[in-house]
Amino acid sequence: MTTDPLEYEVAVVGGGPAGLTTALYTTRLGHRTAVFEKEGGRHAAVSHVHNLLGVSENVSGEQLATHAVDQFEHYGGDFYPDAVESVTRLDGGESGDEPRFRLGAAHATVDAERVVFATGFRDRSPDVPELERFTGRGLHYCLHCDAYSLGDGPVFVLGHTESAAHVAMTMLNFTANVDLLLDGREPEWGDETETKLRVHPVDRIETSVVSAYEDEAIAEDEPPWLGGLSFGDGTERDYLGGFAMYGSSYNADLAADLGCELGENGAIDVDERRETSVDGAYAVGDVTHGQNQTTIAIGDGAYAGLAVHKDLRRFPMSVADLEARGAETEGDGEPDTDAADLEWDDLEVPASAPSLRAQMRRVRDLETHPGLRGPSPGRE
Ligand SMILES: Cc1cc2nc3c(=O)[nH]c(=O)nc-3n(C[C@H](O)[C@H](O)[C@H](O)COP(=O)(O)OP(=O)(O)OC[C@H]3O[C@@H](n4cnc5c(N)ncnc54)[C@H](O)[C@@H]3O)c2cc1C
Repeated sequence: MTTDPLEYEVAVVGGGPAGLTTALYTTRLGHRTAVFEKEGGRHAAVSHVHNLLGVSENVSGEQLATHAVDQFEHYGGDFYPDAVESVTRLDGGESGDEPRFRLGAAHATVDAERVVFATGFRDRSPDVPELERFTGRGLHYCLHCDAYSLGDGPVFVLGHTESAAHVAMTMLNFTANVDLLLDGREPEWGDETETKLRVHPVDRIETSVVSAYEDEAIAEDEPPWLGGLSFGDGTERDYLGGFAMYGSSYNADLAADLGCELGENGAIDVDERRETSVDGAYAVGDVTHGQNQTTIAIGDGAYAGLAVHKDLRRFPMSVADLEARGAETEGDGEPDTDAADLEWDDLEVPASAPSLRAQMRRVRDLETHPGLRGPSPGRE
């Protein structure tokens, strides 16, 4: 049995902080919105969310997303736990055409007037058996999130590139004990970085890293934390934790297939409204810059949500638009009220999507709403 694709005004690919924020905004601004999310993503690897105003670091990225999906659905959005496999244009793609897209997912096909790519990127993991299981628990990818918990103890940076050297030297702001682990590779940084590294007190360790071990001091009923690393020369070193700096690859294939321009690093190019080079297609969060911060992804999502709303809704209409509809102006930019009155009677007012209006009325009478709640310890 074939059915017609469901119609949305906005379809978001990716249910991390960036995509869910765009979707929350567009839903609460009255647009029928769908979010597609396949499992995984960087937010799902976050064991403790840091630097998110008012949110305790006891909260994980997955918990944050669960609450966000509840909020999104509460206000009337549709969440599809499904991987999008294709995004194509239904309009001709000519300038002046009203954009329209079809999203093909594993279990659903939907049409939308605007599409938002919030697909994130993938960190390249270190090639060290046993180490990946300590992700977020001694193996980190984000200095601004995790340096705070690694201060004043032995720390490693795994990598052999400019960014690895840069992060190793930056970690000296937090601890005097930093090892830069080349894991048997040749350094790829330039002369200037080499000069800086010689002066900065970073220990360079060239031998291979062969394994990782747990911190035995952690209670058995607690999730394991990294205790240290074993090296190819038979030595071991204890670490509080460290960073892997092997770069990332952007999940930009769907956007590229649609014709969106990518930057040299593979991120999706966007303007300040978060619109891509394809009319009506937007992109937000890590996939556009790899800034590696939940709050920045959320901010991007908000920018795009507002931009999509302005893009889709017509009011207030400009004088030029009113003139195009036949209303006359008196030459001073003000509509000629007599003539315009007649035309204004003809203006259709679409307001919010009909299917959301009942939800809006229902939600405004509720006393409690989904989302993280609860006072800080000591403030109950
Ligand atoms: C270990 C770790 C710890 C971190 N800690 C912090 C921290 O403490 N504080 C902080 O501010 N930041 C932290 N970050 C960074 C933060 O997680 C990211 O900046 C943030 O998640 C980016 O949000 P995003 O929505 O752009 O991308 P993501 O969170 O990566 O979400 C993208 C989503 O798109 C989905 N997707 C991709 N392709 C498709 C498709 N074809 N169809 C459907 N869905 C698709 C993916 O499944 C994914 O869920 C951490 C990152 C890591 C890896």
